[in-house]
Parts: sequence; C-alpha cells; structure tokens
Amino acid sequence: MPHRNRNDDKSVLVIGLGRFGSSLALELVNRGWDVLGVDTSPRLVQTYADALTHTVIADATDEEALRQIGASNFNRAVVAIGTHLEESILATSQLVDLGVSTIWAKATSRRHGRILEQVGAHHVVLPEHDMGERVAHLLSGQMLDYVELEEGFSLGKTKAPKELLGKSLRETGVRQEYGITVVSVKRMGAEFTYATQETVLNKGDVIVVAGRTDDVERFSEIV
Ligand code: ADP
Repeated sequence: MPHRNRNDDKSVLVIGLGRFGSSLALELVNRGWDVLGVDTSPRLVQTYADALTHTVIADATDEEALRQIGASNFNRAVVAIGTHLEESILATSQLVDLGVSTIWAKATSRRHGRILEQVGAHHVVLPEHDMGERVAHLLSGQMLDYVELEEGFSLGKTKAPKELLGKSLRETGVRQEYGITVVSVKRMGAEFTYATQETVLNKGDVIVVAGRTDDVERFSEIV
C-alpha cells in the first residue's frame, strides 16, 4: 500500500506576498504544496505568477472577493500582512467567518498578535520579534544555534564541553547536574544521530540539548 501522508490535502491560501508571505509561499511550493498567492499589488502578483501554483490580485478584507477566489475551500490559510494592521485583522476575521479551519497569521507586535488570536487566528507568529530574541541569545552566549520551542523551554546546539568528554552520559549524570537532556550528537565529519545513556562524547562533538531555556543557556557556557 502506498505510504499516505498525514496531510493529504496540500493546498494553502497565502494572503500578502511581501517578504514573509512570498518566502513562505515559495518554500511550500518547493515542498510540493499547491499555493494560491493573493495580494492587492499587481506588481507582486505578477512577480510570483510563474513560481506559485496560482496567484490572484484581490483585497482580502473584501468578503465577496474572498468568496470569488474560493477561499472557503481551503483548510489552511496564512495571513502574511504585517504592517497594515487593520487589513491584517480584517482579512483574518473574514477567513474565520468563511470557516477556514487552520489560520496562521503574522503579527508585528505582541498586541497585534493578541488581537489576531481574539478574532480567531489559530497560530500567530511574530517573525521579527522571535528572530530578534534568537539573535540576542546567539550573540550573548556560546550556543551555535538555538530555538525556543515554547516560553521557557528550548533546544540549543553547542560544542560538547570538556568536562563531559570520555564518559557515557549516564556516568556524567548531566541531566541531574545541569537539568538538560542531550538529545543528539554529531561527530566530526558525520551526521547528527540520537544520543542514548551510553553515548560517550568526544572532543569536537557538537550536541543538541533540550531543557529550560536558563539551563540550556547555562550548560552552553561551561567549557
Ligand atoms: P513583509 O514585511 O513580509 O514584506 P508587509 O506587511 O510589508 O510584509 O507586506 C504585506 C503584503 O500584503 C504587501 O505585499 C501588501 O500589498 C499585501 N496586502 C496588504 N493588504 C492586503 C489586502 N487587504 N489584501 C491582500 N493583500 C494585502
């Protein structure tokens, strides 16, 4: 039997083809998704006409226009309008009224995000805010990469600290000692693989650790 993906419906409506919306739309097309890209700007619609599955010039705050482009047939939509607060809120609320079951919306501030949630957006993203915080962690600490999965809980990529080398993770008791879990390890020249209690860290290994953000940060500081 052919392998069936959990998401057999691979179509999405993307409203706003600015920097965020266009990057997202192009990436989805690369991943084999059907994307209908919408913008009020004829120039942007023209720019992405060949790269996206479909593009249309329309005002997403206009209920009739949304009906005409078949917005209610989509299970997923992204409102990628950031700077025009009113349009972003109105477009989101129109999609909610049309019954789109999963709506992602981009916000430019926490307050904007709260309003989008109140009108019914299911997922709110704050790309500039999140990236700013992420760069602050990378710049001020020793981590090679970092992602906060939710408030207070993170994954961090860091070099294996000297004091943990040559012993198994069980022996080092790293979880009790630092409150973090070593999730994966990458030997020099090899790919990431999962870590177990028996994993022994060597010089030059890069590891991914999970835990409370403070603990992940503190762990990455030890040498
Ligand atoms: P970015 O920072 O990602 O470039 P912007 O907020 O600058 O985001 O761009 C949002 C895009 O959304 C713009 O291309 C704009 O033309 C489009 N847009 C704004 N209002 C509407 C609307 N009512 N309907 C459709 N597209 C819109």
